[in-house]
Amino acid sequence: MKKIAFITGATRGIGKQIAITLAEAGYDIAINYRKENEELKNTKQEIEQTGAKCLSLQGDVSNYDDCERIAKQIIEEYEKIDVLVNNAGIIKDTLLMRMKKEDFEDVINVNLVGTFNMTKNVIPYMMKNRRGRIINISSVVGVSGNAGQANYAASKAGIIGFTKSLAKEVGSRNILVNSIAPGFIETAMTDVLKEEIKEEIAKTIPLKRMGKAQDVANVVKFLASEESSYITGQVIHVDGGMLM
Ligand code: NAD
Repeated sequence: MKKIAFITGATRGIGKQIAITLAEAGYDIAINYRKENEELKNTKQEIEQTGAKCLSLQGDVSNYDDCERIAKQIIEEYEKIDVLVNNAGIIKDTLLMRMKKEDFEDVINVNLVGTFNMTKNVIPYMMKNRRGRIINISSVVGVSGNAGQANYAASKAGIIGFTKSLAKEVGSRNILVNSIAPGFIETAMTDVLKEEIKEEIAKTIPLKRMGKAQDVANVVKFLASEESSYITGQVIHVDGGMLM
């Protein structure tokens, strides 16, 4: 029986690459998206071209009821969920002096509460199977902090605390929970930065370049696989040595 991987916010960027990489590794896939668009169609097509099945589920991860419905829909179709990747995330960067209450709440609600919402609704099925892998996408700024990202850094630090606590709770059920902290990865999220700023950032990274979505997807593939079966509660940095 094929293994099932479910990735949130997977129509583009890192989530898309994770979905394609796991499809190539032999999983059947479920992806979550917020809005139906060309990106979704292309991603679904690329996943199916690998020979994998791809179930696509509309929903906002910050909405608990959406997450409950999505988890049920995946079980109806595939009967189990082996791997959950909490990838959906947003930024609303600005200095705290200018940050509106909504800027803080929105980022926490999608990144951190969204991770809780989806995990809470998926984990009962993993418990039943006595097997599961949960991989939460955090960020290096959740560890280091970053000016202009108090909301985002708080959400990503929260994900790390959530990951470690849950790893302790469910280890005895053979459910492994880890987090990945990417550094600067080339996606739409970092495309908003000016070229000069990207070059300045690259100079501060020991590997002297930004990372690719594939660099993150490779680590997800490892954490989902049998090769990582003695690793839980960890934060794996995929950042070219940016933070050490
Ligand atoms: P992206 O903006 O390209 O992708 C984010 C995805 O999340 C999009 O598909 C978006 O539609 C989806 N999404 C946003 N809000 C959602 C919601 N409420 N419900 C469901 N889906 C939602 O960004 P990315 O760079 O691919 O980021 C993916 C993850 O990696 C995010 O959690 C981000 O914080 C993290 N990350 C990215 C970088 C980077 O440099 N790009 C660095 C560290 C961490």
